[in-house]
Amino acid sequence: SAAATGKTFQFKLVLLGESAVGKSSLVLRFVKGQFYEHQESTIGAAFLTQTINLDDMVIKFEIWDTAGQERFHSLAPMYYRGAQAAIVVYDITNKESFNRAKVWIEELQKQASPNIVIALAGNKNDLDTSRTTTYEEGSAFAEENNLLFLETSAKTANNVNEIFMVIAKKLPKVN
Ligand code: GDP
Repeated sequence: SAAATGKTFQFKLVLLGESAVGKSSLVLRFVKGQFYEHQESTIGAAFLTQTINLDDMVIKFEIWDTAGQERFHSLAPMYYRGAQAAIVVYDITNKESFNRAKVWIEELQKQASPNIVIALAGNKNDLDTSRTTTYEEGSAFAEENNLLFLETSAKTANNVNEIFMVIAKKLPKVN
């Protein structure tokens, strides 16, 4: 990445959402620029880091993926404790995953740190012909709950860098 002259700000970011919505794939696309059709649900790494330049600052994301453990709901607070940002992911072709995302958001708003920046990602938007959640449903829910919102595709890379960038812009640069 280009040399930025200013300060580095580090943030913990977690990904939450139902299994198979594409959480690991979004991280892999953002951090390594890769995509696998048959992504293993546990890539193993506890977290990955990626930096982006914003104005004259360096924003360093420490990204925590639940690595398949979202099925064990009791473990979730361990992931979002101390997180300054969260991306709650659903799959636009799986209505149940959208309902599940709403529950994650409620939980974050009650239990996570009060200043957490939350983005809702409607992933797999390359599968538009099979969609079961409209863009408007996603954006209306996000607006009502004061969330950032983008539809993304880890497959085509659509809006993947962008979702991290809108989060970076909204995070308070105070540390
Ligand atoms: P996770 O369990 O939420 O981490 O989901 P994964 O990242 O393991 O992805 C589950 C499956 O969906 C894998 O087969 C991925 O290749 C696929 N997948 C993930 N993101 C996308 C996407 O944006 N578009 C399409 N078409 N498939 C995706």
